[in-house]
Amino acid sequence: MDKTRLRLAIQKSGRLAEDSFELLKLSGLKIQPNKSGLFYRVKNFPLDLLLVRDDDIPGFVADGVADLGIVGSNVFEEFSLTHADKQSNTLLPLGFSKCTLNIAIPSEQNYNSMADLAGKNIATSYPQILSKALAAKNITANIVEMHGAVEVAPKLGIADAICDIVSSGATLEANGLKSVENIFTSQALLLKTKSQLGPEKEQSLSRLLSRIEGVQACKETKYIMLNAPQTALPEITKLLPGADAPTVMPLEGQNGAVAIHAVCRESVFWETMENLRDAGATSILVLPIEKMMV
Ligand code: ATP
Ligand code: ZN
Repeated sequence: MDKTRLRLAIQKSGRLAEDSFELLKLSGLKIQPNKSGLFYRVKNFPLDLLLVRDDDIPGFVADGVADLGIVGSNVFEEFSLTHADKQSNTLLPLGFSKCTLNIAIPSEQNYNSMADLAGKNIATSYPQILSKALAAKNITANIVEMHGAVEVAPKLGIADAICDIVSSGATLEANGLKSVENIFTSQALLLKTKSQLGPEKEQSLSRLLSRIEGVQACKETKYIMLNAPQTALPEITKLLPGADAPTVMPLEGQNGAVAIHAVCRESVFWETMENLRDAGATSILVLPIEKMMV
């Protein structure tokens, strides 16, 4: 493998793929697709993409086939519990592809607690995560491993309950099921191999990480500008969400009035703007920040 270009494994297509590509684009990477559909080269950064099924990503990163990977923590956790000898480092949570792993039972059944699942057959694609959750409550149940169409298992008489990713609940409802427990909360993770990368790749990785952190910071961060009487400054400063030291400038020809500019590191809601107006602010502008280096 190339000693100078990082290799990042991402999902080829599916629920992780779109957000993974979006993150890379926002990080300034120009991706050059090619016909093979397996490898994409990044034109302006020493990085190549390996496009695979999400289930293969933790193994590829652990084996050093890829230096980095983006995968859901559900898939990563299941893989890590199954392969104690194949570990990777989690560099950072990415905040997208959020979902939960839930236990669901037929809608007409009563449910009080996880103890009700004792001795039942539960179908799932996540046997390790499920058995860990059951063991934590000292419950013994029979886990039926299935890959795909898990939600039809109760109808087919294969299982009494299921444990699966739940997004809208519509799929559950369509199969006459209701969710009764949330056992795992997932989001996309950036993984790094435990294999040595060498100095060039390490340097590229720290550049990439600082860009990703910049993209994440930008999502929430806004630039806010407003005018106010100087006397309102202490109260207004208190209302600005997550702002460091604001810039305060006198307004030409308007005695005692100032312009206040600040970077807010938390969401600016309509309510915040109303409070600022009530404190004496006028001409309030909230602008997105396109790029940021922290
Ligand atoms: P592949 O063909 O790569 O194996 P898949 O069918 O296993 O794809 P997807 O449905 O694309 O998987 O889901 C990939 C990952 O996206 C899941 O493992 C999970 O981490 C996350 N995910 C699943 N459902 C949702 C959802 N409704 N919203 C956001 N993220 C989700
Ligand atoms: Zn998959």
